[in-house]
Amino acid sequence: MGTSFSAPALVVDRGGILLIGILKETATGETRVALLPESLKSLLAQGIAVTVEAGAGVAAGASDAAYTEAGAIVTADRGSILTDADLLPVVNAPGAADQARLKPGAVVIGFLKPLDNPEALATAIARPVTLFSMELVPRISRAQSIDALYSMATVAGYKAIIAAAGLLPRLFPMLMTAAGTIPPARVFVIGAGVAGLQAIATARRLGAVVEAYDVRAAAGEQVRSLGAKFLDVDLGGISTEGGGGYAAELTEEALDRGRDLITRTAAHSDVIVTTAQVPGRPAPRLIRRAAVEAMRPGSVLVDMAAPAGGNCELTRPGVTQSIGGITLLAPLNLPTEVPVHASQLYARNILNFVALIAKKGVLAVDLADEVLAGACVAHEGSPVNPRVARLLTDSLTR
Ligand code: NAD
Repeated sequence: MGTSFSAPALVVDRGGILLIGILKETATGETRVALLPESLKSLLAQGIAVTVEAGAGVAAGASDAAYTEAGAIVTADRGSILTDADLLPVVNAPGAADQARLKPGAVVIGFLKPLDNPEALATAIARPVTLFSMELVPRISRAQSIDALYSMATVAGYKAIIAAAGLLPRLFPMLMTAAGTIPPARVFVIGAGVAGLQAIATARRLGAVVEAYDVRAAAGEQVRSLGAKFLDVDLGGISTEGGGGYAAELTEEALDRGRDLITRTAAHSDVIVTTAQVPGRPAPRLIRRAAVEAMRPGSVLVDMAAPAGGNCELTRPGVTQSIGGITLLAPLNLPTEVPVHASQLYARNILNFVALIAKKGVLAVDLADEVLAGACVAHEGSPVNPRVARLLTDSLTR
């Protein structure tokens, strides 16, 4: 079977069987794996071979034996996977030493963080390989089945509520017992995008009374459809919608109106889950110290925007703090706490991506396809994404 890249990419025919390599993730705290044993059937049926690094799936509940049974070759020799694989689906970007070993013509797909940390990809970008970033996949209908940000935000939104419920010294549901009635917990969700909506749905399933705030008016209907109350703020008619369903960056004055509402709502909230983000910008600082101090002792605040700096001015990304009896969580990677289903969803996104570039066991990357062009970080030794190119040039001239 051959390997070909169609225009405007190269056309290469290496012959032989397409080999997919699954590496054991090396990032601290990572528990996910890019493909599970259950993912292999459709690949093997196309004549694609799969090699897996020993232990790659263990943290996600997939043993080496399960991969072998599914038809993969399991090896402890990471180097041979790097040098032999044509296609490397990964969760996180491999390190520079691994990048240096990639087979010429290899394709890497994963959360490569090309805009946050392009320097970490510099070795691979300079090599004759193709890099696709899950973060850059255009958020259009046709690409929904490969939208891994969506999958991970869904898992994270669920887990944020479960983490808060575990720490809260109260129950979530209203209970009517012979010993009296317990009122329901009050949950406030800030940012009703993918993660926020899943947080709302999860809190509602647990019986909490939920309020939510978002600058996008379109979010209101979705919030209400989940049985939560949408809190409106008069932002003076300014445009709050950026492109692709995302929010626009707001003026300080508009942000202040949101901050006032948040401080008022925090005073009667047992749990706040905050998810507000603006693509490519630091997370908006929406929660003042006064809002945290207004919460009752024992309350829990989960700042899901921590990877982008956080929505709360007290947030320290990755650090759990106790502030006047309030627990402030700032998790950096909640999906790793649900490794089985996070891997399952991610693996399906990966399989759907692979279906775009491998037809009947032949690798055929068509960079004229808007999904592939959008997701492509670099190809054949040069950055394809203009923002990545600019960031790399800037870093060289610093
Ligand atoms: P995100 O993670 O960038 O932001 C999370 C939420 O924060 C968004 O709802 C945003 O409006 C909100 N926000 C930003 N600034 C705020 C502020 N100052 N105050 C309050 N809230 C603020 O976005 P996301 O969750 O990835 O996606 C947002 C929306 O994009 C989705 O709800 C959906 O409509 C759309 N989307 C479409 C597709 C698709 O078509 N394939 C995929 C993903 C998302």
